[in-house]
Amino acid sequence: MKIVTIIGARPQFIKAAVVSRAISSFPDVQEVIVHTGQHFDTNMSDIFFEEMCIPKPNYNLNINGMTHGAMTGQMLEKIESILLAEQPNWVIVYGDTNSTLAGALAASKLHIRVAHIEAGLRSYNMNMPEEINRILTDRISSVLFCPTEQAIKNLYQEGFKQFPCTLLNCGDVMQDAALFYANKAKCPDFSLPEHFILATLHRAENTDSPERLQSIIAALEEIAREMPVVIPIHPRTRKKLQELNFDFKQTRLQLVDPVGYLEMVHLLKHCSLVATDSGGLQKEAYFFKKYCITLRTETEWIELVEQGANIITGWKYEDILNSYKQLKHTTKDVFSSPLYGDGQAGHIIIQELQRIDS
Ligand code: UDP
Repeated sequence: MKIVTIIGARPQFIKAAVVSRAISSFPDVQEVIVHTGQHFDTNMSDIFFEEMCIPKPNYNLNINGMTHGAMTGQMLEKIESILLAEQPNWVIVYGDTNSTLAGALAASKLHIRVAHIEAGLRSYNMNMPEEINRILTDRISSVLFCPTEQAIKNLYQEGFKQFPCTLLNCGDVMQDAALFYANKAKCPDFSLPEHFILATLHRAENTDSPERLQSIIAALEEIAREMPVVIPIHPRTRKKLQELNFDFKQTRLQLVDPVGYLEMVHLLKHCSLVATDSGGLQKEAYFFKKYCITLRTETEWIELVEQGANIITGWKYEDILNSYKQLKHTTKDVFSSPLYGDGQAGHIIIQELQRIDS
C-alpha cells in the first residue's frame, strides 16, 4: 500500500510524526511525504523533522507567503503532478490548512482516495479560513478519522451518514504524541520563571485585528504583573506587533522565538496555566493537566469546556482578566477523563486503511 502524506504547517508535522512512526511498523506500507512549504522557518519546520524523527520529505514545494487563493492554487497544481507520478492508494491530509484542502482536492479530482485526519471538527465560524478548509476537505474524503465523538456527531448532523465514506473515532493523534514524547521533554535554552503562564497567539482573527491584538496583549501584560507570562511568539504575530510599534524592550511579557515540540512539552509540564488561541494547545493543556483560557469566541474542542478544563474567553481585556481570576487558584482535578483516546490513534489509522484495501 502506498500513501502520499501532504503536510505544510507546524501542527501537521507533529501529527504526521505520530502517523509516520505507526507506518514504519507496517512493512508493506510505503509513505511518500510532500512538504508544501507553508511553514518554512527552521523553528517552524526543520526542528520538528529533526526532534520528532519525521522522515525527510520526498518533495518540497516551497509555497508560502502569498494570499490564500494563490497559495492553495499553486499547491493544487504541484500536488496534482506529484500524485500523477506517484499513483498512491491513499492521500493522507491533516487538520485544516491550505495544504490540507489543496491535497484533498488534487487527490479527489484524480479519484485517489483521501484520508482526513482530525476530521469532523467545527467552530461554526465561517470567517475562519480553517473552517472553510475543514468542511470542504471532509466532504471530499473517503475516510474521516475523527478525534472525538463530538466530531462524529458534527458530521452526522451534516448528513454524512448518507455519503459513501467511512467515519471512525480513532482518538486524537496529538494524544499519541503527548504520551510518546512526555518523557522526552527538553528544557528550552532560555531562563524560565518557577511559576508562569504559557501563552500562544496566532489565529488570523486575533492577529489581523489591531483592536483584538492590542486588547489581548494588554490583558496578558496586566496578568504578568502577578504571574510571568512566557510566549513563544509566532512569526505572524511578531510581524503584526512590529507593525503596531509594540515596544519589545519595555514589555513585561517574556517573548521568545517559537520552540520545538519537545521544548513545548517541557513548558506544558511546568506552567501553571495556558492561555492560547491555538487549537492544538487547548488539548495539550488538558493532556498535561493544566487549565486553559481560550482567547477566542468559540472552540472546536467543546468537550474541554464541558469538562470544566477550558474557559472560552474571547479577546476582550476584562473577560481575559476575569477568566484568569477565576482559574488562578483552581486546583480541582478535571483532567482524568480520556477524551482523546488511549494513544493508539496512529496505529488504528493505518490498520483501518489496510483493512479497507484488503
Ligand atoms: N507548538 C510548538 N512550538 C511553539 C508553539 C506551538 O511546538 O512555539 C506546538 C504546540 O505544542 C502544538 C502545535 O504546535 O502541538 C499547535 O500548533 P499551532 O498552534 O501552530 O496550530 P493549531 O493547533 O492552532 O492549528
